[in-house]
Amino acid sequence: MRPSTVAVRAGCNRSQFGEHAEGLFLTSSFVFSSAAEAAARFAGEAEGFVYSRFGNPTVAIFEERLAALEGGERAIATASGMAAVLAVAMTFLRAGDRVVAGQELFGATIQLFSNVLARFGVETVFADPTDLPTFEAVLERTRPRLVFIETPTNPLTGIVDLTAVAERTRAIEALLVVDNCFATPVLQQPLKLGADLVIHSATKYLDGQGRVLGGAVVGAAALLEEVYRFLRVAGPSLSPFNAWVLLKGLETLPVRMAAHCQHAERVASFLAAHPRVVQVRYPGLPSHPHHARAHQQMRGFGGIIAFEVAGGRTAAWQVIDSVRLFSITANLGDAKSTITHPATTTHGRLSPEVRAAMGVGEGLIRLSIGLEDPDDLCDDLAAALACLAR
Ligand SMILES: *Cc1c(COP(=O)(O)O)cnc(C)c1O
Repeated sequence: MRPSTVAVRAGCNRSQFGEHAEGLFLTSSFVFSSAAEAAARFAGEAEGFVYSRFGNPTVAIFEERLAALEGGERAIATASGMAAVLAVAMTFLRAGDRVVAGQELFGATIQLFSNVLARFGVETVFADPTDLPTFEAVLERTRPRLVFIETPTNPLTGIVDLTAVAERTRAIEALLVVDNCFATPVLQQPLKLGADLVIHSATKYLDGQGRVLGGAVVGAAALLEEVYRFLRVAGPSLSPFNAWVLLKGLETLPVRMAAHCQHAERVASFLAAHPRVVQVRYPGLPSHPHHARAHQQMRGFGGIIAFEVAGGRTAAWQVIDSVRLFSITANLGDAKSTITHPATTTHGRLSPEVRAAMGVGEGLIRLSIGLEDPDDLCDDLAAALACLAR
């Protein structure tokens, strides 16, 4: 079936009473008909649910639907996106292992690898995966167990050639993990391009309306069985209620992503033509350094735009404080458009030198384009940018 159908229908064969909307099973545990059945289910010899930390019907529908959308054999839902990153790390890494990670990642992912996992003897080397020769050299030199990347990158929307990185990763027998949060399976399916695992912050586009936290790991059944064993004992599990909300989100994901892309293209073109804007980073613009790669790899260019104004932090903050429609929040992937200053929020804990090397300047602003009329968003930005002239 095609993606729009999968988004609405996958997993629905679990209906019990002919309910049309997916059933919400708010129960911590399940009852067995006999001691023998309890024993068989605990041993994994009989099908059926036991305890919602490691299995719940509503969560299972969400897992099936997301796995189908990503083209993976199985998905395991987690309490948040960070719980998904942690689950992958705790499942596949041990003391003495090395990780090579993209340098432009979600802030908490950088903190998790460089501060938390470092205490358990896992060393992480950060490198730029959009620069293939350099990234390949780092892989050769460090021989990591796991490679972790995001594409488009955060906040500059750099595009990583997933097929090429997957090839290099396979050559050194490491696992390639892709955080597919910005693109979603509607715009790109990393597993089909050679990634071993996809992780999601379902909190963003998969929900799409800023209501709940959630996450997931998706991939081949053999790898996911190991993730499941970690989740079963460690417990960063998704709540059935959140799974139910996320199922409603998935139903509209394809239509929402089409609108996010269309609106963002309109706003990016507006910004690119504005005299007060020094630079716009949106993969859909021909001026974007990885435009051709994005065109080849993605079915749309996404809803995230980064742009730079002259005048550094003062000017950037002035624009942020002058918009009326955009919400000032670091969240993204919402129906409501958001605006943020990466250098002092999401990427504020990095040293100024690291930020400068990445290209995250003090004048950089990141937008997540929502579902409002794009002309209203352009009007709002025009008024805010006009404040700079004075
Ligand atoms: C938000 C986000 C995360 C973390 O997800 P939570 O649900 O907030 O834990 C991970 N990766 C990316 C790219 C994100 O935007």
